[in-house]
Amino acid sequence: MSKRDYYEVLGVGKGASKDEIKKAYRKLSKKYHPDINKEADADQKFKEISEAYEVLSDDQKRAQYDRFGHTDPNQGFGGGADFGGGGFGGFEDIFNTFFGGGGGRRRDPNAPRQGADLQYTMSLKFEEAVFGKETEIEIPKEEECDTCHGTGAKPGTKVHTCSHCNGSGQLNVEQNTPFGRIVNRRVCHYCNGTGKEIKEKCSTCGGAGKVQKRRKINVKIPAGIDDGQQLRVTGQGEPGVNGGPPGDLYVVFHVRSHDFFERNGDDIYCEMPVTFAQAALGDEIEVPTLHGKVKLKVPAGTQTGTRFRLKGKGVPNVRGYGTGDQNVQVKVVTPTKLTEKQKQLLREFADISGQVPDEQHESFFDKVKKAFKGE
Ligand SMILES: [Zn+2]
Ligand SMILES: [Zn+2]
Repeated sequence: MSKRDYYEVLGVGKGASKDEIKKAYRKLSKKYHPDINKEADADQKFKEISEAYEVLSDDQKRAQYDRFGHTDPNQGFGGGADFGGGGFGGFEDIFNTFFGGGGGRRRDPNAPRQGADLQYTMSLKFEEAVFGKETEIEIPKEEECDTCHGTGAKPGTKVHTCSHCNGSGQLNVEQNTPFGRIVNRRVCHYCNGTGKEIKEKCSTCGGAGKVQKRRKINVKIPAGIDDGQQLRVTGQGEPGVNGGPPGDLYVVFHVRSHDFFERNGDDIYCEMPVTFAQAALGDEIEVPTLHGKVKLKVPAGTQTGTRFRLKGKGVPNVRGYGTGDQNVQVKVVTPTKLTEKQKQLLREFADISGQVPDEQHESFFDKVKKAFKGE
């Protein structure tokens, strides 16, 4: 998921003062606080705002963000170190960032971390999206290993501190450059940054401390969900590390199309064929809707393409703001298979009508005539 720029999130300039940042944060957090704002994405926005404020209100974090953006330099600043950023004058700064001077935050392998978010794509039938449903989904999920309770060590054996990094999870790698010797801190590859060494691995998880399981999750799909929308199921992502909170599960919906109904937002569109006689004389026709059959009065003299609205026969709004309409477009169908009797009657009809159109459409026929004459 691409992250929005923190300054953009708070709506302030790059040079904003601490005061300006604080004010912007207060205003936005009030607006999007989940207790006040009931829009579906309010808590997501609130989270985004809080995160942006947390970084921009802290001098050290802000300086680091200005330099590196969203990429956390503490996460493996490996061989291809980003020397380009501030030109070569930046060497010292980089050095400082890692060794205290500039105050880079060390990645503590024992610090609690939130679990990763998961995404699940669900295909829905047209009607299922309209009316919503409750369903169970199965997702592959990493869970703490029951045998070793997440330690990765065989039960009864001890987990030792990694002797290579002394438990810090990181190693200093010295590098010679044309500018002198620099030291990079990298994730310890002996313990993969965990800071722990396992002599006898748990046979269930192979030392990973986690196992892949399929987990059933009950999902309540709200009525009116639309193609491409997503639902967040809080706390159903991957488990946190070192006691951190679990991630979230995002269910993304793909809604299949319908043979007869077409949907645009909360409104439904459909086409109803009527005969020439029905259109000319008027009739009451039955129209299928998502809420059952509805009778529709087609007045005498209805033209093909005329649209009728069935109020409240559309899709319930996913946020609970009423229900859309169904728009019925009437299509006059010209008969293709006529019996002799029908042909006879139509000829008679044509004779009586002649070429004279009825008054209502005189102007239209006039325009056609003019077009023929090139006027
Ligand atoms: Zn295990
Ligand atoms: Zn280590």
